[in-house]
Amino acid sequence: MLNFNLLDKILVENNSFIITTHVNPDADAIGAELAFYRMLKIIKKEVKIINYSSTPYNLEFLDTDKIIEKYCLEIHKDLINSYDVILTLDMNSIKRTVKMADLILNSNIKKVCIDHHQNPEEFADYYFVDTQASATCEIIFDFLFSFYPDLITKDIAIPLYAGIMTDTGSFRFSRTTPKLHRDVAFLIEKGADPFDIYDKIYDQSKFSKVKLLGKALNTIELIYNGKIGFMTITQDDFNVTQAIESDTDNFVNFILSIEGVLFGILFIELPNGFKASFRSKGEIPADLVAKNFGGGGHRNASGARFYNQKLDKNIIDQILNYSINFLQSLGK
Ligand code: 5GP
Ligand code: MN
Repeated sequence: MLNFNLLDKILVENNSFIITTHVNPDADAIGAELAFYRMLKIIKKEVKIINYSSTPYNLEFLDTDKIIEKYCLEIHKDLINSYDVILTLDMNSIKRTVKMADLILNSNIKKVCIDHHQNPEEFADYYFVDTQASATCEIIFDFLFSFYPDLITKDIAIPLYAGIMTDTGSFRFSRTTPKLHRDVAFLIEKGADPFDIYDKIYDQSKFSKVKLLGKALNTIELIYNGKIGFMTITQDDFNVTQAIESDTDNFVNFILSIEGVLFGILFIELPNGFKASFRSKGEIPADLVAKNFGGGGHRNASGARFYNQKLDKNIIDQILNYSINFLQSLGK
C-alpha cells in the first residue's frame, strides 16, 4: 500500500502545483493529469498542466476546458521555479519530459513521482510508485477513493476510466483484477460511459491513420520461427498518408495478434531519430529488452527512443539479434 497519508500531506501543505507527463502522452497520462488537476482545483489550489507534447487529437475530448499547456521555455522557465510542487505522472524517468527535464532537475520545486512503471530512476523527492497497478489512473483512483471519494464526480470519473481502459488493453491485460473491475464499476456509476469513451479514443480515427496502418501492416516480417515479428514505419509513410506519430498507438499489437508470435517490435522513424516499441506475451520481460537500449516500460509493453540516430539496417539487425538471443536465453 502506498503512503497516501504522505501524498495527502504534500497536497494539503502546498499551494501551487505543476502537473506534467511523458512525451507523446497516452490516455493514462492525460487522464491522470486531468483527474489530479480537477481534484486540486476543487480543493482551491493553483494548478497548471504543462506537457512537452501536444495532446493527441483523440484525447482532446478529455480536456474539455483546454487547460493543458504545451511546454515553451520562455513562458514556463520562471514558472517552474515559482511553483511549490511538480507532479510527474505516468513516467519513471525524467528524460521522458525531453526538453523540460533539465529545467525541472535544476529547479528547487518539490518533485513528486506517481507512476506504475518498473525501476523508477532517481529524480524525485517523493515516490508513489506501484508497479502492480494497471495504470497511473488506478493509483490516483485509489488515493481519491480513500481520501476524497466525494470528489469523484463525472468530470474526474471520465479521465480515470479512460486511463484504466487504455492501459489494460480494454480490460484484458494481466493486471485486470476483480478489484479493478469494482473500481471501474464505481467510475461508471459516477458517469463514465464505456461506449462513449471507447468510441472517442479508438473509433473516431482520421482516415490518414487507417491508411498508415495499412502501410505498416504490409511491412510485417516474421523471424525466429515466427516467434518474433516486426513492423517498420518511415517518415515517408507519414508524409504520404499525412498521419502523425500518435496515430501509431496500438499498431504494434497487430504483430502480437499473429498466431505463434511471442514478441513484437515496431520501428518508427522520427524527424530526429527513431523509436522502438516492444510488446511481449506472458512472462517475457519486454522491459529488459528496452532497458538494454536505454528505454524502459512494463513487462509486456516497453519502448526506447534513439535520438539523432538513423533507422538503418544495421541498427535494426542489432535490435532483432538482441531480441532473438534474449528469447533464446529464456528458453523460448
Ligand atoms: P510505447 O511503445 O507504447 O510508446 O510504450 C510502451 C511502454 O514503454 C510505455 O509504458 C512507456 O512508458 C514505455 N516507454 C516507451 N518509450 C520509452 C522510453 O524511451 N523510455 C522509457 N523509460 N520508457 C519508455
Ligand atoms: Mn500508464
